[in-house]
Amino acid sequence: MNYYIKYFGCDMNKSDSERVSSIFESMKMKKTENISEADVIAILACSVRQSAVNRVYEIFRKKKIKKSAIRILTGCVLKKDTQKLQKIFDIIIDITRIKDLPKIIKENKFYSYNPENVEYFDIIPRQKNNFSALIPISNGCNQFCTYCAVPYTRGIEKNRSAYSILSEIKQLPQNIKQITLLGQTVNSYINPDKNSKIKNFSDLLETVAKLKKDTWIGFTSPYPTKFTDKLIKIIAKYNNISNHIHIPLQSGSDKILKLMNRKYTSYQFLEIINKIYKLIPDANITTDVIVGFCNETEKDFSDTLDVLKKSKITLVYSGLYSPRPETLAYKIYNDNVSQSTKRKRDEKMTKLIGKQSLERNKKYLGNVVKVLVSSKSKKGIYLGKMQTHETVKIFNATDYDLGRIVNVKIDKTLEWGLEGKIIK
Ligand code: SF4
Repeated sequence: MNYYIKYFGCDMNKSDSERVSSIFESMKMKKTENISEADVIAILACSVRQSAVNRVYEIFRKKKIKKSAIRILTGCVLKKDTQKLQKIFDIIIDITRIKDLPKIIKENKFYSYNPENVEYFDIIPRQKNNFSALIPISNGCNQFCTYCAVPYTRGIEKNRSAYSILSEIKQLPQNIKQITLLGQTVNSYINPDKNSKIKNFSDLLETVAKLKKDTWIGFTSPYPTKFTDKLIKIIAKYNNISNHIHIPLQSGSDKILKLMNRKYTSYQFLEIINKIYKLIPDANITTDVIVGFCNETEKDFSDTLDVLKKSKITLVYSGLYSPRPETLAYKIYNDNVSQSTKRKRDEKMTKLIGKQSLERNKKYLGNVVKVLVSSKSKKGIYLGKMQTHETVKIFNATDYDLGRIVNVKIDKTLEWGLEGKIIK
């Protein structure tokens, strides 16, 4: 039997898809990239944005699919979306129950929901590439930002034991060059094992950095107020912990942050950023912004631009606000910023960030930097990432270099990346 798998959304869904693949492989199924050849089709959907939900329908609308194919829906899905999507799926299963898939596939339709369960993290994932590993350390979220579906799709935060996390890391293949610790608010991690010396996220990060000295260590996504002084010191102390710090701002307006139930002000956010730059001057800071949240005025948006400037952010993962069922914002606020205003503000922000990114990139001109070669484009150009997350186009790489860390001399700097050649 062949299986086809597709995930939408964030790295947590990507990591979960590796665990689902692992289950299928244990059932002796073979992965196919061609959906029309598949006997089992698994979709890890994402309810965080309406556009991602719409794309699930498109998969089945556009592609030829075997009539007998079993269609499985899992991932990060709101109950309302599940109810709508159930017409096009045979099996709907909570991600925490995927260990039951072999049994469920043999039976009939089934839906189970058990967000308390983090045991599924024990399934050893089948990594898509063999040089970077996503390691979930927690699941769910306690923050209840008013726009966000995650507390309703994944439930409240459940932390995996440090023992289980470290066991998975110890079992990683030798050639893994990069590890990313994952959690919705990764730095609020508390080890449920009270007898362990590892108490919190800083302890865990330090332990991983010591355990994997030759591996680049990163994490995503932290919550700003959980970014402690101790955590900043640990990032500064270990060379193998990435100086790329992704720290979600969402808005630079205190009024909007309050409406979003984000528990910090723009001043507090900037204080954290300043502390990071003080100890890690080379930090490459990126963020998330929601554009056009309910009641966002031009002044609120310009406050956001102001924070982005002051924090010298080089990349924003922006989303135009779209109300998600079950969230508080959906229930009590009006989505009263027009799509065209949202788009215009997004374009303005992209221009600003492009300039800031170029400013940072310029300093690499003529330098030799370390790059992990991660992919080859359809046009045959190799792409890689620096430890600080800058994207580098490499013109003289070969397939041999994929998954390796190489020295690249930078001969061109652009808004969104760098270009260069490998030097021996
Ligand atoms: S911190 Fe807020 S935005 Fe992030 S997952 Fe939790 S509720 Fe969603």
